[in-house]
Amino acid sequence: MAEKTLFEKIIDGEIPGDFVHKDDICVAIKDIAPKAPIHYLIIPRKPIPGVHDIQEEDWPTVTHLFKVAKQLAEKEGCEGYRLQFNVGEKGGQIVPHLHLHLMGWK
Ligand code: AMP
Repeated sequence: MAEKTLFEKIIDGEIPGDFVHKDDICVAIKDIAPKAPIHYLIIPRKPIPGVHDIQEEDWPTVTHLFKVAKQLAEKEGCEGYRLQFNVGEKGGQIVPHLHLHLMGWK
């Protein structure tokens, strides 16, 4: 069995995470090194390694990540925000488990 990703360990409670959202498809946690006043990571429970690895059947999950990001931005009262996927090491991706960055400003 493949070794769990950092985010799988957080989802499974093996490593602490500051959860701001949980549902059947994804979770959202506070980024440990925030680059904006609000910086959350929206992470599918399915450990899709990255955008390159999204399969046809994963698109509803990806859509759900955007939906949760929008809901969280509204809940936090963000006036403006940025949604970002880093893709591959050269694209700045450190954790090989798909995640959508929500960076928001009030
Ligand atoms: P990326 O560079 O797109 O792979 O983003 C990974 C993000 O995970 C970075 O913004 C890190 O600050 C964040 N991060 C790393 N370890 C943790 C952790 N234990 N809890 C929360 N966020 C983390």
